[in-house]
Order: sequence, then C-alpha cells, then structure tokens
Amino acid sequence: MAYVYDDTNVFARILRGEIPNKTVLETEHTLAFHDIGPQAPVHVLVIPKGKYVNFDHFSAEASTEEIADFMRSAAAVCETLGIRPGDGGQGYRTISNAGTHGVQEVPHYHMHILGGRVLGSMLKRVD
Ligand code: AMP
Repeated sequence: MAYVYDDTNVFARILRGEIPNKTVLETEHTLAFHDIGPQAPVHVLVIPKGKYVNFDHFSAEASTEEIADFMRSAAAVCETLGIRPGDGGQGYRTISNAGTHGVQEVPHYHMHILGGRVLGSMLKRVD
C-alpha cells in the first residue's frame, strides 16, 4: 500500500514557515531543530524536507542525495552539540518511531537525537 503524506502535519507546517522552530542545522534537503517537549537535556529532531511519512518510506523513495544529506546532517548535529563519542562526547541515541506500534505521533519522517544524560535501557523486557 502506498503511503499518503498528510500536508497538515506539524513538521510540514514548520517547513512551510507557518510555525517557528529552534533550528540547529539546515541544508538543502534537511532541517534539524530542538524538540518542543525534550525528554533529555539534548533532544533534537532531524527531518527531511521532502514529503516522507516514515523511515521505510524515506528509504524507499528518497534520492541518494537526500538520504546522504539526511544522515550526514544528523551526524553533524551530534558533532555540533558535543555529544559525539569520537570527539570525546558522552554519546547519544537515535530513534525513529513508525506507525501504531512505534507510537509515531507526527507523520513526517524524523529522527530523534537524544543525549546529555544516561538514557537507560532502550526497551523494557517483555518476559
Ligand atoms: P514521534 O512520537 O516520534 O512522532 O515524535 C514527535 C515529536 O515531535 C515529539 O517528541 C514532540 O515533542 C515533537 N514536536 C511536536 N510538535 C513540535 C514542534 N512544534 N516543534 C518541535 N517539536 C515538536
């Protein structure tokens, strides 16, 4: 089933300039900004400017240039914020939620970058 992109979602509105954001980085294809409800001292969202619903949609339909720009931008955010272990930073976690089980709230593909504290276990065991 093909994905249908909802142009009214909040990140689409940010990209159109209808809602302000605290930008960390912007390129031709990618925007990174601080999450409005941070769940860690560092909580940044990285989004493609193209109309992609989630990770698998982006991976299947974005151009190689968009994908490379997105990944390099996300890494640049980690460097800019001083959390990159390769530079002596304390590390971070990236998360991309998708669909109902992933508990995705905003239907525009985004990567969370979280850091600034020990984040704990990724998931609770089910057994
Ligand atoms: P998800 O559950 O993965 O879809 O995450 C959506 C994220 O978007 C949440 O962490 C929200 O706090 C964040 N968010 C929602 N509206 C805004 C906004 N206007 N500016 C920045 N972050 C937002």
